[in-house]
Amino acid sequence: MAVVLYEDSEHKCVAFTDLVEGEGVQANQFAIVHQGHGMLLDPGGNLVYKQLFAQISDYFAPSNMQYVFASHADPDIISCLNGLLLMTDAKVLIAQEWERFLPHFCQKGISAGRLVSIPAQGLNISLQGLELKVLPAHYLHTVGNFHIYDPISKILFSGDVGASFVDNDVAATTVTNVSEHVNNHGVIEFHQRYMTSNKACKLWVQMIRSLDVEWIVPQHGSSYKGKETVEAFLGWFENLQCGIDLL
Ligand code: FE
Repeated sequence: MAVVLYEDSEHKCVAFTDLVEGEGVQANQFAIVHQGHGMLLDPGGNLVYKQLFAQISDYFAPSNMQYVFASHADPDIISCLNGLLLMTDAKVLIAQEWERFLPHFCQKGISAGRLVSIPAQGLNISLQGLELKVLPAHYLHTVGNFHIYDPISKILFSGDVGASFVDNDVAATTVTNVSEHVNNHGVIEFHQRYMTSNKACKLWVQMIRSLDVEWIVPQHGSSYKGKETVEAFLGWFENLQCGIDLL
């Protein structure tokens, strides 16, 4: 069942946490809806595509899908691209480093003119006049990696940063104790292995602290809600030794 993270008369953020079944890694998909127009974040692959497409129509008409955002180009992020391009008129936002790789998920020619490359410094995109921030998160974990900050809900959609490995129902919940969470749900092991270096973590934390973030919502597992929990997570992440620090 979809989880509504934020809702007011013209704005909604929705998480889909339970669509992956079987062998695939648990993954969350998201929709931001503003004045009836939508954007999908990290929609995933064929494992979830049919159900995701059916469920988003409870929140906005697929013909009003303006953007599909891919934090990077992994299979659990954007391998359903062919179907989305066929069924909607959405533009696809992805790092310039990955733009030329996406056509490999698609039938020949179908992605032509539909891909928008995000420059290294990020950008603001307008969803019905609402400016959403596309924030650089390079090397967390891929070269050319971005996150989305929504200034209305104050949610940071943090891609793989903050990811944990839990059952679908737990993914819909929020973390109560950050140190317990990072120790027990694969968070330490995942970040040590997949994140590139402490320098990247530190720069990202510095940038996130300059924003008014109420809720960090990753693409795998549970989320970090409330200023105190957000800060506890940032404090852990800025001191993490990972990737080439440990090589
Ligand atoms: Fe990934």
